[in-house]
Amino acid sequence: MTNSNVALSSPSTTAEVIKKQRRYHPLKSIPFALMHLACFATLLTGVSLKAIILCVSMYAIRMFFLTAGYHRYFSHRTFNTSRFFQFILALMGCTAVQKGPLWWASHHRRHHKFTDQEGDAHSPRIDGFWWSHIGWVLSTEYESTDWEAMKDFARFPELRWLNSWHIVPGVAVAVLCYFIGGWQGLIWGFFISTVVLYHATFSVNSLAHMWGKRRYPTADDSRNNWFIALFTGGEGWHNNHHHYMASVKQGFFWWEVDFSYYALRVMSWLRLVRDLRMPPRRLILVQR
Ligand SMILES: [Zn+2]
Ligand SMILES: [Zn+2]
Repeated sequence: MTNSNVALSSPSTTAEVIKKQRRYHPLKSIPFALMHLACFATLLTGVSLKAIILCVSMYAIRMFFLTAGYHRYFSHRTFNTSRFFQFILALMGCTAVQKGPLWWASHHRRHHKFTDQEGDAHSPRIDGFWWSHIGWVLSTEYESTDWEAMKDFARFPELRWLNSWHIVPGVAVAVLCYFIGGWQGLIWGFFISTVVLYHATFSVNSLAHMWGKRRYPTADDSRNNWFIALFTGGEGWHNNHHHYMASVKQGFFWWEVDFSYYALRVMSWLRLVRDLRMPPRRLILVQR
């Protein structure tokens, strides 16, 4: 549906059109459901300290590459890096099994363009909690990469390749977890860790537009939520982020914990990344 359709349609017609498109795809839902079901295999494999450490490590590492790579680099270009490390960011981001970097970033750019309006793939205001959390991922509407939104990165063949073969790094992580900890390692290091990673990431799309404080009067419903920020490497400072998306750090003040920013700062000292873009002071201090 184009914007001109929206403009021409009456509200009721528009709502009907959107409702028809808002369908979960049964075949796409099966692998996602199986990922969740596989977690219950821990009833057979049991748990150990080694399995918990593997699970937490896999979660933390992959969350970092999602937030620092997929989000702050590929979606918003909040810092610069070499072509080689750009590839590493994309490759490691793929291990989170949230499709390819260009797919992920293209739909995220769309989210910022149409935040909480028609055209936004995941708005709780428009489509409710469940759609914004998981429904849009399981629909056929957003299956393909929006290349129009990714012209800047689409010129790199290695990124286009990864975007198509995004499943390979994810499978490699599953195999690695099996070699580290056997079946128990596979269940905790890959399945449980990946499922928790899904819902933590998705909660930024759903809950961070519903639950928390609004420091800045943005036109959307974005919120700052310290609890979500703790589990998502700082992504819970979502009202800050919608207020000034070009900033590499999303926790604008010292008390707003932002682990991904701290790690990127250390990486800048190691010359892995450079030109970290900071929010202008005059924009931070604007209060509602
Ligand atoms: Zn948002
Ligand atoms: Zn963003």
